[in-house]
Amino acid sequence: MRLLLHTCCAPCLSGSRPALEEEGFEPTAFFYNPNIHPYSEWEKRLQTLERYLYLRPMEAMIERDYPLWGFMRELSATVCPDATLALGGMMTPEERKKRCAFCYRKRMEATVMTASEKGFEAFSTTLLLSVHQDHELLRDVCRAVSEEGGIEFIYSDLRKHWNDSKRESSELRLYRQNYCGCIFSEHERLSQERPQTSA
Ligand code: SF4
Repeated sequence: MRLLLHTCCAPCLSGSRPALEEEGFEPTAFFYNPNIHPYSEWEKRLQTLERYLYLRPMEAMIERDYPLWGFMRELSATVCPDATLALGGMMTPEERKKRCAFCYRKRMEATVMTASEKGFEAFSTTLLLSVHQDHELLRDVCRAVSEEGGIEFIYSDLRKHWNDSKRESSELRLYRQNYCGCIFSEHERLSQERPQTSA
């Protein structure tokens, strides 16, 4: 079965792709990630994907548009309609959940739309491999978008291949990022690492 595989990054693709091929699917990678900030990080992840595609050739489609303003405008309208909320520091867990649900939905809607235009029978995402994602929320968003768009969603708990992806990306010397993608996730990550100061 031809599958449009939303691809968040090369390391996650390197673990998801062999697993899906083993299950009998023919994945085509689809890179669409306006959530990745800043732009230089987005470029770095895209270049890493291109390197992976060179080393391990497969069908791929790459969305090179970077609709930063549209993404951020919609995100703040969804998560923090009152912009002053965002100025207070960290988001609450509820706001973070809303933020990720919005982000998953944006990317899956684009995947389903492209799958439908290009005649794919089904879609899935390499985000299902990451142990850092909200797996259940992601799966539910994918199911909802699948119903709305009329394209089958292939669910597989790819987290069991997490270590395979680490091995493969280290063998291919692929860049592995240390935060999810959006500017908020970078802030959350870095502020956890830094010692708190009282001044
Ligand atoms: S943490 Fe990751 S999934 Fe959640 S909004 Fe940020 S980039 Fe998207």
